[in-house]
Amino acid sequence: MHNYDLLVIGSGPAGQRAAVQAAKLGRDVAIIERRSVVGGVSVHTGTMPSKTLREAVLYLTGWDQRGLYGRDYRLKPRLTVEDLRQRLNVTLAHEIEVMQHQLRRNGVPVIEGTATFMDPHQVRVETADGHVEEYRAERFVIAVGSRPLRPPDIPFDDERVLDSDGILNLKRLPRSLIVVGGGVIGVEYASIFATMDVKVTLVDGRSTLLDFMDREVVEEFVHCLREAGVTLRLGETVSSVERSESGPVTTRLNSGKRLRADVILFAAGRMGCTYDLGLENAGLETDERRRIGVNGRYQTAAPHIYAAGDVIGFPALASTSMEQGRLAACHALGQSVCATPAHFPFGIYAVPEMSMVGMTEQQLTEQRVPYETGLARLRETARGQIMGLQEGVLKILFALDDQRVLGVHVIGEQATELIHIGQAALILGGTLSYFLENVFNYPTLAEAYKIAALDAWNRLSG
Ligand SMILES: Cc1cc2nc3c(=O)[nH]c(=O)nc-3n(C[C@H](O)[C@H](O)[C@H](O)COP(=O)(O)OP(=O)(O)OC[C@H]3O[C@@H](n4cnc5c(N)ncnc54)[C@H](O)[C@@H]3O)c2cc1C
Repeated sequence: MHNYDLLVIGSGPAGQRAAVQAAKLGRDVAIIERRSVVGGVSVHTGTMPSKTLREAVLYLTGWDQRGLYGRDYRLKPRLTVEDLRQRLNVTLAHEIEVMQHQLRRNGVPVIEGTATFMDPHQVRVETADGHVEEYRAERFVIAVGSRPLRPPDIPFDDERVLDSDGILNLKRLPRSLIVVGGGVIGVEYASIFATMDVKVTLVDGRSTLLDFMDREVVEEFVHCLREAGVTLRLGETVSSVERSESGPVTTRLNSGKRLRADVILFAAGRMGCTYDLGLENAGLETDERRRIGVNGRYQTAAPHIYAAGDVIGFPALASTSMEQGRLAACHALGQSVCATPAHFPFGIYAVPEMSMVGMTEQQLTEQRVPYETGLARLRETARGQIMGLQEGVLKILFALDDQRVLGVHVIGEQATELIHIGQAALILGGTLSYFLENVFNYPTLAEAYKIAALDAWNRLSG
């Protein structure tokens, strides 16, 4: 039986980076992947498909030109599922090819099948057609990811009552959509469908959306959602969902309200994909969401087994999963690594997009850290004018004592790109003077940093 230095279970962002890192260190490593194609949720049902869909919708609807040509401007007045699927197929095929090539180039074999621990050092791998092989390894990285939570009382049919996997297989565009769950996935899909002129209702049990984000940014986003025609039902929970043979889906809320729509999307949480792993045979347990606990070195309770990505919980992003996978492999193989950065960025690809790094105003207030804000509207920049931007805010939070950057928050065009300027300043210990004393290309949206810094400087010296 082959005895690997490292076996990685799962080929999503965490698993791939773990395996490639081990290969770069010259170790004997393989990936076990249940699907016939590598990439994980990130490529097949999560990050890449949803972002490709968003990009296709923005282009085909002409959304980003409406500031110049009017709110009624549409590049293609009647969008179809085929228009969107075409772009999805091309993008995903390319991405898979790039990944397969990268694994081949680094000499990482992919073993197809579902892995189950038989004992702490041995797994059995069963293919879809029942073929079983066994493998041993000195060390493991578990990177099995997560899957949508499907409450048993919701009558999912993958046609009109869907989770975030099913939404990609819609046969036709609905005229109306109920999205349950105001987290990242819920708000992304709610705003993308609203951009296609679908009548969207967003339901969430909490009274605010995206609790971890800066309140001012969320308020701006809520305003944009309302402008796009989204109805918000916050502080409301679903009591039942009924599907008729061909008519609309009826959703009842605990407040007694009745909502009807062509399709309902359930995006209210995810579970660790640890169902088939036989973790008990490796001496491991999971929490109530089937996630695995790790220490700061991504090591589980079994010292030779590491875990990374969605299966270890928050923040459950492709961006962080990649880095966790790489670090887990380094720790497992005794390679010294730099400490994980104290701050990582969040990107929310809603319409409009949002991004943040560092502390929010609420956190600073709770922790009694005195700060000053600098704010710029993207339409104040020359580039924003040229692009016809109507919305968008960039906000920097500076410490009152030494003017260090404490947090950056952006909503609007290119927010997820713009944030990285602020991230560099934050992590390198930059202060207000960096933005005041340096010249930014003109016209750029990045100029908003200068405007926000001048705004903070005026307040500080006022
Ligand atoms: C709709 C949506 C949008 C998203 N958008 C973004 C975004 O914009 N930006 C971002 O950073 N993140 C985004 N994410 C999150 C991102 O997709 C995940 O954080 C990321 O895919 C997690 O990577 P992973 O490697 O932990 O697991 P996954 O990508 O889930 O991969 C796990 C792999 O393990 C395999 N597997 C599971 N069990 C076994 C087993 N027993 N044996 C063998 N193989 C197994 C699975 O088949 C899968 O291929 C989004 C997610 C969703 C659902």
